[in-house]
Amino acid sequence: MLDLHVHLLGHLDRKANAENIRSFLEQARASNLTQIGFADHDMYWEDLQLDLIRKVAEEYPDLQVRVGLEVDYQEDQEPQIKQLIASYPFDYVIGSVHQLAGWYFDMPEEEEKHRYYDSDKYYREYFNAIEKAASSGLFDIIGHLDLIKIFNMRPQADVRTLAAAALKTIKEQGLVVEINTNGRYKPVREFYPELKLIETMKEMGIPFTLGSDAHSPLAVGRDLSEVCGMLKDLDVHQVTGFKQRKAQIIAI
Ligand SMILES: [Zn+2]
Ligand SMILES: [Zn+2]
Repeated sequence: MLDLHVHLLGHLDRKANAENIRSFLEQARASNLTQIGFADHDMYWEDLQLDLIRKVAEEYPDLQVRVGLEVDYQEDQEPQIKQLIASYPFDYVIGSVHQLAGWYFDMPEEEEKHRYYDSDKYYREYFNAIEKAASSGLFDIIGHLDLIKIFNMRPQADVRTLAAAALKTIKEQGLVVEINTNGRYKPVREFYPELKLIETMKEMGIPFTLGSDAHSPLAVGRDLSEVCGMLKDLDVHQVTGFKQRKAQIIAI
């Protein structure tokens, strides 16, 4: 099993030092992971110690330790994102949408706005941004595909219809979508993306990967064996890992 969405720094809650890296890797072992990928937020670029991760990983030959990045996608920042990604030999890059025209909609203090804004409208804008992220050619993985549901506001329209164009682009671009278990610990109380979207992607032949979105060591691998069981029930028997930006098929 693997977990490719792990934040060593959290939200700058700790430093990227050897001791902290080890505590994440110990938990990876305890969770029976074979592959763990660190993917801190690109906004903390100055605080990352990516070579140190690779060095500490040598103490854990039983683990495939990967170095990734979670990029906060913004359409007008594509050249800067491209430059950033090219400046380090990442194993993979996650493209995530956390904001719509400067509205960082997933912050707890933004919940109220989700109630009085038109949900169909912001769902459309959100999936439009996901589609642009997918077509940018910058990423390997799309992060938390339906993060916009975080406060459990649902659109009137079928979410599969709202996401259809984005999913088509994801498929055409050969991208991988993560099943991210962190949503269970948010007001929406379910994984990202919801089952209907997972079923649609399975039918489309879009590959999956797994991510806990851990911001602390104890959350590494959280609920991922449950996700594997759910995928097997859907007749999905493999997920995708990465090394040097090449996909690796891993049986579950
Ligand atoms: Zn994210
Ligand atoms: Zn994340």
